[in-house]
Amino acid sequence: MLKEIICTVCPMGCNISVEGEGENIASIKGYNCNRGIEYGKNEFAHPVRILTTTVKAADDNILLPVRSSKPIPKELIMECMSEIKKVRVAGKVKRYEVIIQNICGSDADIVATGSLE
Ligand code: SF4
Repeated sequence: MLKEIICTVCPMGCNISVEGEGENIASIKGYNCNRGIEYGKNEFAHPVRILTTTVKAADDNILLPVRSSKPIPKELIMECMSEIKKVRVAGKVKRYEVIIQNICGSDADIVATGSLE
């Protein structure tokens, strides 16, 4: 399998081509530094993303911005979004307060990036 990846580690945005199967990488091309090699390998074998979204307050008209405390495996993102959609926050919420602990067993928490008074 060949995967074309844009490296997002720095603004150069190198186009990295990674070829392999599963976690076995046969070749990697297009990087301009060692950080790109690492990024390309991880993105090929085990892509992760910081999840950024909103949760609803008890009053449906208010949205609280949240994000994951660490990158989440890409294959868990949709499941995490389903869990987040079920949540309604009530009362005061401080910035960086944990809204959901260990979401979907990912070891990441969903934390507020804004506050509610
Ligand atoms: S490969 Fe290196 S130079 Fe290219 S975008 Fe990634 S970090 Fe930047």
